Amino acid sequence: MKLHEYLAKELFAQYAIPVQKGVVIERPEQVDGLTLQCPLVLKAQVLVGGRGKAGGIKLAATPGEARTHAGAILGMEIKGEKVRRLLIAEAAEIGAEYYLAFTIDRTARRMAAIASAAGGVDIEEVARSTPDKIARSTVDPFLGFQTYHARQLGRRTGLGGSLLSDFVAVATALYRLCVSEDAELAEINPLAVVAGRLLAVDAKVIIDDSAVYRHPGLPKNEELTELEAMAKLDGLSYVELDGDLAIIGNGAGLVMSTLDMVAHFGGRPANFLDVGGGATTENMKQAIKIVVRKPGVRALFVNIFGGITRCDDIARGIVDTRPPVGMVVRLTGTNEEEGRRILQAAGIHAFLDPEEAAQRVVALVTRR
Ligand code: GDP
Ligand code: MN
Repeated sequence: MKLHEYLAKELFAQYAIPVQKGVVIERPEQVDGLTLQCPLVLKAQVLVGGRGKAGGIKLAATPGEARTHAGAILGMEIKGEKVRRLLIAEAAEIGAEYYLAFTIDRTARRMAAIASAAGGVDIEEVARSTPDKIARSTVDPFLGFQTYHARQLGRRTGLGGSLLSDFVAVATALYRLCVSEDAELAEINPLAVVAGRLLAVDAKVIIDDSAVYRHPGLPKNEELTELEAMAKLDGLSYVELDGDLAIIGNGAGLVMSTLDMVAHFGGRPANFLDVGGGATTENMKQAIKIVVRKPGVRALFVNIFGGITRCDDIARGIVDTRPPVGMVVRLTGTNEEEGRRILQAAGIHAFLDPEEAAQRVVALVTRR
């Protein structure tokens, strides 16, 4: 689970990592009520990197300017994500920009600490072009990341004096955050020098999805659409896209290849839902209800390869929940015969060949 910058910064504050004072708004008018000191920095809250370059981060010298920028950024789309929230903070006068992160090194089976004096820019690019500018160490889970480890890392990054002391405090706190909150990534880029002190100007935190249940108090991203929330409640994985063709399949691989096939034949998926292995008639009924409720859906493609999932269970779900749009079913695998019989009795043909079925469903929405 990726946390938005403003939520990641709330966590930083809990761990005594210095961040700017800021407020989150959703409408440009809200700028008027703010008591923050100008100059201000306005930052689009989207879960993609490189917001600066994409025009999602702007400095404002006056409240009027802030209002104008807020109007421009809110509602803008950055790498396919619509900006619904804006973080406004008192702009920092930035000196040097450092990079600091903890991430999981799966090969070493440990957390890795990564630091660089070449912060503020794309760290992957630094790693490619000037790898010697990056200091790295892995953390022994039994020892933890001690102050002397932090001091070593800071020295290798070129820090000394009071900045090194700041670095030790920030780095050990960031490691504590990772361990206590089950973060698989915690990144500060830039970790900036402002008035002689280190300040976390940006914040990126990803919590291990498998551990989210252990942290009920963790700030949540409320990014789910109504239908996504409905699907989640039923343990179904559902994703929304922009087209007009709803897709249901079982298993992530089958669903992905179904999307590819549909796209290959010129169709545009509106969404897709994976009913998973061992889907029941009830799961299937709920799945159909969810995918066809999305506005703009004009046809439904059900692609099932029965394994643990039984074709007859799926067929019963389909027959019970006649979708209000054209439907194409491809059904094969466990209890296929029985599944086909159930569908046939209801006047529904089931395809065997997925490509043929994909072509048919695309034809349903493209023919006029
Ligand atoms: P990202 O582009 O999504 O990584 O967003 P960042 O929060 O890292 O901001 C990108 C860049 O905007 C930073 O590297 C800074 O150069 C600039 N920036 C962000 N906040 C401030 C600020 O408070 N003051 C100043 N002067 N620049 C800022
Ligand atoms: Mn950044």
